[in-house]
Amino acid sequence: MAIEVKELAQLKLMRKAGLVVADTLKLIEQSAQIGMTTLDLNEIAIKNLAKHGATPSFLGYHGFPAVICASVNEEVVHGIPNKRKLVSGDVLSIDFGAIIDGWHGDAAISFGLGEIDPADQKLMDVCCESMWQGIAAGKKGAKLTDISAAIEGYINSQGKYGILREYGGHGIGSAMHQEPHILNFGPAGNGPELVVGMALAIEPMITRGHERTKVLSDEWTVVSHDSSTGAHFEHTYTIAPDGKVFVLTAEDGGKADLARLGIAISDLL
Ligand code: MG
Repeated sequence: MAIEVKELAQLKLMRKAGLVVADTLKLIEQSAQIGMTTLDLNEIAIKNLAKHGATPSFLGYHGFPAVICASVNEEVVHGIPNKRKLVSGDVLSIDFGAIIDGWHGDAAISFGLGEIDPADQKLMDVCCESMWQGIAAGKKGAKLTDISAAIEGYINSQGKYGILREYGGHGIGSAMHQEPHILNFGPAGNGPELVVGMALAIEPMITRGHERTKVLSDEWTVVSHDSSTGAHFEHTYTIAPDGKVFVLTAEDGGKADLARLGIAISDLL
């Protein structure tokens, strides 16, 4: 199957969905407190979707029962919101997707509550920056795995982390998960050339320990096999018709973070 290429008008709808995702994740991070539960955070997302007239991407996806994925500590991705009270030192990874007029946005953040272990904070910082390095490498004319190599190269330059093997980024647009699958490791220079109108979700998932994971009996929650803390960041970005990148799920389109890396974003969105 070919990679879906979007017209500007379609990218503008993806931007609308992306802004709902950005706003919801910001609201969740600002609202999350010790003593709350991840089900409380799911409620915040439900209300914000309604406020924006958007539809959740995750609810009912292969039977997923919530609008956010909420993964705590050794849970890396795909956690189901539950009633366990959050405590100081917890590391939360929240993944969220929204649909506007049939077009999807998908993003994830990790953050800590209360007193955070400095090594957990560094894990999150490394994961977040590796995502930006991946997006910066995914310019027009680059090869798909230039993104993979940039993510892995940055992570490995920062210390010893486990990069999840079984999960990765993906194409996105009229469906949440499309081709191509995007590995978070491996050599540069392979795969399709990146062209105008592609939209990709870049999502490194790493642990403080080993890369090996297992899925819990709920058939969703992915935990690190060695119980080490995990982190997950994700943004949906596109290559706009002017050939410049634009991060559809970042409030500022990725302007500030990509400027640090010497990349100017598109003005078209
Ligand atoms: Mg995703």
